Amino acid sequence: MLKLYNSFSNLLEEVELNKKEVKVYLCGPTVQSSPHLGHGRSAVVFDFLVRYLNYLEYKVTFVRNITDIDDKIIEKSLEENISYSELGTRVSVEFQNAYEKLNCIKPDSEPKATEFIDEIIKYIEILVENKFAYISKSGVYYDISKFDDYLLLSGRKKEDVLSGTRVEIEEDKNSPEDFALWKFSKENEPYWDSPWGSGRPGWHIECSSMIESILGKTIDIHCGGNDLIFPHHENEIAQSKGAYPNEVFVKYWLHNGMLNLSGKKMSKSEGNIKLLNDYLNEFNGQVLRFFFLRSQYRSPQEFSIELLKESESTLNNLIEFTKDVNPKPKDKNVLSIFKESMNEDLNTAKMLGDLFKLINDSGSLEQEKLEDLKSSIKFVFNVLGFELTKKDINKTADEELIEFFKKYDIKFENINQAVKEFITKREGFRKIKDFDSADKMRDSILHVGISLEDGTDSGWSWKTS
Ligand SMILES: [Zn+2]
Repeated sequence: MLKLYNSFSNLLEEVELNKKEVKVYLCGPTVQSSPHLGHGRSAVVFDFLVRYLNYLEYKVTFVRNITDIDDKIIEKSLEENISYSELGTRVSVEFQNAYEKLNCIKPDSEPKATEFIDEIIKYIEILVENKFAYISKSGVYYDISKFDDYLLLSGRKKEDVLSGTRVEIEEDKNSPEDFALWKFSKENEPYWDSPWGSGRPGWHIECSSMIESILGKTIDIHCGGNDLIFPHHENEIAQSKGAYPNEVFVKYWLHNGMLNLSGKKMSKSEGNIKLLNDYLNEFNGQVLRFFFLRSQYRSPQEFSIELLKESESTLNNLIEFTKDVNPKPKDKNVLSIFKESMNEDLNTAKMLGDLFKLINDSGSLEQEKLEDLKSSIKFVFNVLGFELTKKDINKTADEELIEFFKKYDIKFENINQAVKEFITKREGFRKIKDFDSADKMRDSILHVGISLEDGTDSGWSWKTS
């Protein structure tokens, strides 16, 4: 029986879902700047959830939105002197490429806020009509004094809300903690017409509105980072209950923990944000995916380059262990470890520990049992979105190779030409007996899946003849 920790009840609950239809919504990125590691974690851990639900034969409809209009996007686009949509499109593509490299399942729908302006306006009209919203000089606001159940998700007190850093400070609100549903546009800002004046939607309303438009008034699982609980998810609840008081909005709220850097939360305000692409280029998507698997999704997870390297070598051991077998669910022990850990609030950390124990103890197994163990482990990792193969050079995106060779001043035309030039450069170091630099070059090219002849025996070997 699958149990998930519901942030609303603060309880580990046995989930009751309809096999034929499970609606999952994940708050996606605001496309103002390149994805950071935290975006990667959120995407991957909830990808484990969707894949596991698929494995349990639930029919999942998965939606992840893109916030493509927002104060910060406008600010950034003015800084760069481009339109908000140009910036949004560029950053969206970066996110999409990163999700793909991490091998995340493509959502059934990936709505953008600006594609749902009509629906958002209709939603705000309902809130105005139900007297949960009012119009002021700077926009349309949600009146939180009208919603008795405000802050039930976060467990905050209303008087503490004001001490939150993200509360807006417009002076023409009835109460400082009221939040914007529609913001009237200032000069040079993008705008859409509305019954109240031209402007743009606030951040929170898009999720309530897109959820209703795409999935309906009630969804099963709403996911996001735990930094979204307040105010974003509180406000989503306030909006959805204000518009449809008699409907259940979300059955289960799931929130992933944050990444820490030397014990400190990785965040813009701490100034210690790490960009996802830097690590996708240096390592690869599967290594990062494996790194995220090592922590249960709700726990905070410590990040360091050493931990990534450790993940890479553990993953390589796993690839080595399962290299000659086809994925098959043969070993009951492996399957029960998999299901029991995943059923316990997707405890991937426990699963890894238990599976590695089996691997470490496998030395004395007879051949057939050993084969079963290997093929079952491969099966389980396949379910969770791992290929467990060395990178196939033919599949490596040219883009990645171009980037890689650029670092060595090599213009990439094709793989043969580029590797040849690379080897010549490396030979140069060997000739002058700078073996350190030569070794570094050999190690670095391994990250794009190429191993040189005199290098290690892992990855793809390369013949220069
Ligand atoms: Zn959202």
